[in-house]
Amino acid sequence: MLTEYHIEIMFEALSDSLSPRALGTMTKANINQDRLAGQFGHDEFHFDNNAFAKTYAYIEEQRALTIAALQTQNVVSAWQAFGRMTHTEQDFYAHSNYVTLWLERFNGAALPSPDDIDPLDLDLIHSPDLRSGRTYNPFELLYFVRRIRPRVLRFLPRDSHAWMNLDAPEQGYKFDYAMRAAIKRTRIEYQKTMAGLSRELIALFAGT
Ligand SMILES: [Zn+2]
Repeated sequence: MLTEYHIEIMFEALSDSLSPRALGTMTKANINQDRLAGQFGHDEFHFDNNAFAKTYAYIEEQRALTIAALQTQNVVSAWQAFGRMTHTEQDFYAHSNYVTLWLERFNGAALPSPDDIDPLDLDLIHSPDLRSGRTYNPFELLYFVRRIRPRVLRFLPRDSHAWMNLDAPEQGYKFDYAMRAAIKRTRIEYQKTMAGLSRELIALFAGT
């Protein structure tokens, strides 16, 4: 997803639960995953290239870092690890065909509203049909140069990130489903990460 949408997702998902300082620090760490150095050789940051096992390991590593940092009162490190983790989880809906597979179930029938999307349908998450976009680097970067985007798309295969992404509204109606799924998933991950922590640590993480 483009930076502004990661910021919107964080705000929509967590502004009721966290202070501006906490949410600001984690959101900066979230969007920093899209820095140029984070774009190459880091499939696990963005759910790219079907590197699912590596990506799930990265998510759990960041969750463990979040909890360990909180337990040693290192709240800024906890916010940053949580921000990195949520970036990956949000990109799942923009970089995989999860939304497409979910919508295909309603073939021929009226589509449900984006608000109705289930972000954690286990049948789809474990489906052999689940794919994420391949990054044909360095050419994927040219996709962002609007002037030559049509030529870049003709050059790149259909399984590329350039063809598959739901990073922005111009990708069509599926983008709204990716946004709603990412917002719901971010809330779920907050609850999951806080589960089992003391009231004091949850308050420390909230930064209130
Ligand atoms: Zn990303």
